[in-house]
Amino acid sequence: MEKKIFVTQPSLPPLKEFVKSLEKIWDNKWLTNNGKFHQELEKKLSDYLGVKYISLFSNGTLALITALQTLRITGEVITTPYSFVATTHALHWNGIKPVFCDIEAKTMNINAEKIEALITPKTTAILPVHVYGNPCDVKKIEEIADIYGLKVIYDAAHAFNVKLEDESILNFGDLSILSFHATKVFNTIEGGAIISPDAKTKKRIDFLKNFGFADETTVIAPGINAKMNEVQSAFGLLQLKYVDEQIKKRQEVAYHYRKNLENINGLNFLEDLENIKHNYAYFPIFIDYKKYGKSRDEVYEILKKENINGRRYFYPLISNFPTYKGLPSANKSNLPIANKIAQEVICLPMYADLEKNIIEKIAKILKNN
Ligand SMILES: *Cc1c(COP(=O)(O)O)cnc(C)c1O
Repeated sequence: MEKKIFVTQPSLPPLKEFVKSLEKIWDNKWLTNNGKFHQELEKKLSDYLGVKYISLFSNGTLALITALQTLRITGEVITTPYSFVATTHALHWNGIKPVFCDIEAKTMNINAEKIEALITPKTTAILPVHVYGNPCDVKKIEEIADIYGLKVIYDAAHAFNVKLEDESILNFGDLSILSFHATKVFNTIEGGAIISPDAKTKKRIDFLKNFGFADETTVIAPGINAKMNEVQSAFGLLQLKYVDEQIKKRQEVAYHYRKNLENINGLNFLEDLENIKHNYAYFPIFIDYKKYGKSRDEVYEILKKENINGRRYFYPLISNFPTYKGLPSANKSNLPIANKIAQEVICLPMYADLEKNIIEKIAKILKNN
C-alpha cells in the first residue's frame, strides 16, 4: 500500500545525540525543577529568538492559562474564534468570558478595526493569535489597548522565530506564549513558553508554574504545576541546533507549493508578507466552492482517498463548539469572515522533509478536480 502522508511530521534530533544527553541526565540525577538543561534552554532560546525573558512550560496550553493568571486577567477578554481550541479554553479555565471578534481575510487574524466596538466596562484584555505565524496588526492592537487600559496577551503558538521588521514578534504585547508541541516548527515533544518583558514578571511566572512557591515555605499564589522537565529541555537544546535548517526547508516546500498551485480557479493560498521573516509553519489553501466547483470537504475527501491527509485548521470555529456557541458574541452574523474561511480552509501537508514529488502529486490532484 502507498504510504500515508500526514499534515505534519515532527522534526527529531539525531538519536545518538539525544542518548548522550540522556546519559548526562542520568549522571546528574536531576530530572525536573529548573535543572541544568532547563536553564541552558531558557538562555539559548532567549538569545536565538531575540527576547528578554522566557519561562519554559510543560505545554502551550498551561503557558496560556498561566499567562492570564500572571496579569490577573478577569471579566471579559476579546479574542478570535479562528484558532486552535486551547486559546479560548485557557480563558474558560480562568473563569473569564470570551468575547469573539471577527477576523480579516488577508491574514486570518483578529480584525483590529472591530475590537473597539466589543469593549465593555468588564473588558480587561485582548487575546489575539498570530495565525499560521502571520503577525497580527500589533501596532493597532497596542493603540487600542493603551487607550482603554487593556492588557494584550498574544497566542504565538504558530509564530516561533517570526520577525516583523527584524524585531521578534514575541516582543509585542504584555506577554506572548509559544507551543513546542510535536506538530509545531520547534518542538520539545510537548512543551511551551511565556515570553515576558522584565525580570519581575518572569519571576512571577516562574512562581506560578511551580505551585506558587517563592521559597521553601512561602506560597505566594495558587500556582499550578506546569514545569518543563530535563528530558524535554535536553531534546529542545538539540532541536535548536537544526531549527534554522528546518525552517529553510519549510520555505522551499512553501515555494514549491505556490509554484505548482498557481492559477487554479477558486483555489487561493497565502503569500509572504512584506517586512516579515516567516517560519512556514503551515500551508493552508482556501477553496472557493462557487469558482472551484467542489466544496472544501469534497477536496478533503479526494485527497484522503489518495492517502494525503490534510487538516481543516480551523474548522469548526471555536465559537461554534457547544461550550461557546451560546455566547452572544458567538452568533454567526457577528463573525461572517471567520465562518466563511472555516468552510474554505484545508492545511496541506507541511514539514521540512516533505518530498517535492509529493507536492507535485498533491498539486496534480487539486488541478484535475
Ligand atoms: C498548539 C496550539 C496551542 C496549544 O499548545 P499545546 O502545546 O499543544 O498545549 C495553543 N494555541 C494555538 C494557536 C496552537 O496552535
